[in-house]
Amino acid sequence: MAVYEPIPMVDLRANFAPLREEILAGVAEILDTGQFILGPHGRALEESAAAQLGVNHAIGCASGTDALLLALRALDIGSGDEVIVPTFTFIATAEAVLYVGATPVFVDVNPHSFNIDVAAAAAAITPRTKAIIPVHLYGQPADMLPLMALADQHGVPIIEDCAQSFGAHIDGRMAGSFGRIGAFSFFPSKNLGGAGDGGMVVTNDEKLAARLRVLRNHGSSQQYYHDELGYNSRLDEIQALVLRLKLTRINDYTAGRRNAAALYRRYLGNLDLVLPQERSGFYHVYHQFTIQLEERDRVRAELAAQGIASAVYYPVPCHRQRMFAPAPTADCPAADRLAGRVLSLPMYPELQEAQVARIAEALSASIRG
Ligand SMILES: *Cc1c(COP(=O)(O)O)cnc(C)c1O
Repeated sequence: MAVYEPIPMVDLRANFAPLREEILAGVAEILDTGQFILGPHGRALEESAAAQLGVNHAIGCASGTDALLLALRALDIGSGDEVIVPTFTFIATAEAVLYVGATPVFVDVNPHSFNIDVAAAAAAITPRTKAIIPVHLYGQPADMLPLMALADQHGVPIIEDCAQSFGAHIDGRMAGSFGRIGAFSFFPSKNLGGAGDGGMVVTNDEKLAARLRVLRNHGSSQQYYHDELGYNSRLDEIQALVLRLKLTRINDYTAGRRNAAALYRRYLGNLDLVLPQERSGFYHVYHQFTIQLEERDRVRAELAAQGIASAVYYPVPCHRQRMFAPAPTADCPAADRLAGRVLSLPMYPELQEAQVARIAEALSASIRG
């Protein structure tokens, strides 16, 4: 019997290997200059990210969670306010709303796109709604055009949660450039990931950009003068250096992911499972490749027994998390069903066809078994 290498969910070692020497040389330079926080790498990263995303301003910060928090603070959202959030997302989307003292109002998702159901969002709007936070889940843009029409109709700003979607777009318009503010994460396993925590907020609004810069730096626009309560939430120079190197290669990374996704579609096409939807005109960057199937947990265990990693994002939708109890449980049947059926397969730019073939073979045997 052949002994196979395990197949991980992501292979960060392979991803960093070609950058290793450049990163080490860059780190040595930073050590020599002693400028660790808010320096030239951070500014250069902000400039190139803004250019790549087609926005006027990009502001680095400490994490994707902080990016959402800063966005909510910059829009003066707080106690007594409601923020509409899709329930099928990573907890941080909703945590940020709690941090500012507002109430997350959970709405269901579309069972095909996994993204916020615009009709459900419309039904959840009240006079207290102060923002909507669509999430471009797994790397496919949310249905931004109808959502923006809805938001405009009610005068409610949109904050895009782009933590999984750097480089995604709808007909050329980049995720992060639709709403008032876009919030990005550079957590190492994200599709644009650093060598530690990091995040970024982007906007076209100059006043908001200035406020975001103040908020990320202790509420200060001039050293030791503090105009309002802010945070220590900056992106450090070493992270910015790593992210600059990765940003120049992001299109290659995305091409690698999309190639892996195409291989999955070819190898899994005949199996009794649901492949992820890719909407026409929506450029999916495949942060995750997420299938739906019956007996998910049994199949997952059988893949694991053969050294094949997989993951469930997310087993519990936000509206069922204890963190938010005793909030009334929202009615989100699509999210509830997805939570029991989704399975994300290994996905990274370096994933090889032979690996996809082996995953497909194991899945096929398990589903038939
Ligand atoms: C990862 C993630 C976040 C939080 O980003 P961090 O950098 O880990 O704080 C927020 N929203 C979504 C959808 C995420 O996937």
